[in-house]
Amino acid sequence: MAAERRFLSRDPEATLDLAARLGAACTGGECFALDGDLGAGKTTFVRGLARGLGVDGPVTSPTFTLMQEYEGRLPLLHFDAWMEGRERSFLADGGAEALTPDTVQAIEWSARVADWLPDPHVAVALAHEDAEARRITLRVVGEGPVAARLDALLAALEPLPGSGTDLLEALP
Ligand code: ADP
Ligand code: MG
Repeated sequence: MAAERRFLSRDPEATLDLAARLGAACTGGECFALDGDLGAGKTTFVRGLARGLGVDGPVTSPTFTLMQEYEGRLPLLHFDAWMEGRERSFLADGGAEALTPDTVQAIEWSARVADWLPDPHVAVALAHEDAEARRITLRVVGEGPVAARLDALLAALEPLPGSGTDLLEALP
């Protein structure tokens, strides 16, 4: 399994740009499982995925809705598992079947629905570094050919020079 990729994003636009580069490289069936404190940048990252997928229009936090679907080059499905109850039961009661290979999926607070996450998926951990900087760690969870494709997607991810995102040293 490939090493995890670690980035330091210096401002929201840098997070948007990094995620957009990922979104632009998606071919369908990618699931991004996002975790991190409130305000860590999960929704911002999803906005970037949407940008990279050519989604027109706003991406709003789906905290109080079950799921948002945005039409882009591929459909982007956006879940938020923050609220106890609805989202959790949705995924448990078959909503996970909505995570089809012809879509790109982003799940905020994914640890709350860990049992229903697709195998494999890309774990995206966001953490506050300071007011305007975030650590973004990406790694593939799972094995097999699809996991290898996701690994290749992450391996090819390089921040645009000057975009405000820096690559951090890979863990040994
Ligand atoms: P979450 O969905 O994790 O609660 P949001 O993406 O909704 O987080 O909000 C992140 C907040 O942090 C926004 O107000 C954004 O402007 C701010 N922010 C500051 N620096 C960054 C950064 N480097 N990356 C992402 N968001 C940032
Ligand atoms: Mg959010």
